[in-house]
Amino acid sequence: MIPRGFIIPEATKKMVGSFDKMAKRDGLLPIKISDFYAKKVEEEVRVVGGGVGPLYRCVLPGTDRFSSRVAGEVSDFIGDKVNMPEELKDVLIWKYDDRVLFLPTDNCASNCQYCFRTAYLSDRHGSKPFTLEEKVTKLLEFLREHAQVEEVILSGGDPMVMSPRDLEMILRRLKEEGGVTNIRIHSRVLVYSPFVYTEACCKMLAKYRVRLVHHIAHPYEICDVVREHVSRLRTAGVRQYNQFPLLRQVNDHVDVLKKLLLELDEFGIRNLSIFAPDPVNFSSPFRISLKRQFALMDELNWSSPAWVQATRYALDNPAGKVRREDFVRFEKNMDGAQVGIFHRNGKEIRYPDFPEELDIPGKREVMLWKE
Ligand code: SF4
Repeated sequence: MIPRGFIIPEATKKMVGSFDKMAKRDGLLPIKISDFYAKKVEEEVRVVGGGVGPLYRCVLPGTDRFSSRVAGEVSDFIGDKVNMPEELKDVLIWKYDDRVLFLPTDNCASNCQYCFRTAYLSDRHGSKPFTLEEKVTKLLEFLREHAQVEEVILSGGDPMVMSPRDLEMILRRLKEEGGVTNIRIHSRVLVYSPFVYTEACCKMLAKYRVRLVHHIAHPYEICDVVREHVSRLRTAGVRQYNQFPLLRQVNDHVDVLKKLLLELDEFGIRNLSIFAPDPVNFSSPFRISLKRQFALMDELNWSSPAWVQATRYALDNPAGKVRREDFVRFEKNMDGAQVGIFHRNGKEIRYPDFPEELDIPGKREVMLWKE
């Protein structure tokens, strides 16, 4: 779904048609771009051309989306599906003892090309085994039986695309019936449709003491309109955080990362983590070799002030998150493909590395074309 009047090059229009066919065939999310974000992509295309700019790559396919597959890609690397209790499929994911991920919606304000939950979300489009009320009831039953769970994280999909009425119903029932005090919402709506954050919405989030984690991935996703809505949230008293994936040819340069982190700091938004892109099917246009990921994080740490480098680097996997310091060595699989070995809590985690010869970094002058 592309906004009417969205001006894109002819070559991109053809790619959009081919991508939609591929998405249907291979279970990927279809193209969907909000009007607000489309305007930014248009501006970027006018300067750097189609297919290459960082915001373009977030929501539209480049030629590399069609050709590149590498060994080790799977549909669900981090194990979302295996961590859904059988009777709670499509309701929640329980991977860590003390927190649970609730899935109230499979919709987003725009679909990210790099989405690491693309197979799961596209699977669910059209199938709605439970109503929202039933999902909340099931979640509350689960919480009653699992007292060790201290936090409920609303994810999806993007919970902030739900109607204010539905969102309030969830928050109210969690508080009143479940006594839940730690509620976190992960959302990318701030960059796609910031107008969702009306005064009333901000007050509601503040009332239920929600921790709001934005997913801003590039500094050009921040503009005056976004700043205005961040201020509105702050004035209402909403605690705001951010986390984002390290994405090839979107933000894989230390200057892009620094610019984003400094901007977030100006806002009073604390960046919780920068995470490695998961090796899911068709993700290779965004993946980065481990060696380069580590080098980028080291450079960021050594060349930036404390309030920038305080962010964590995390790599998710079926056994839980690991960090840079958990890395032990590289090994070759039987098929010759390289894997990174991490040790965490007595477990060995094998992460399929991205081949260095395919890891073509983004150009600074393209990713920071406004400078
Ligand atoms: S907003 Fe999040 S869940 Fe939605 S498409 Fe983007 S990455 Fe995936």
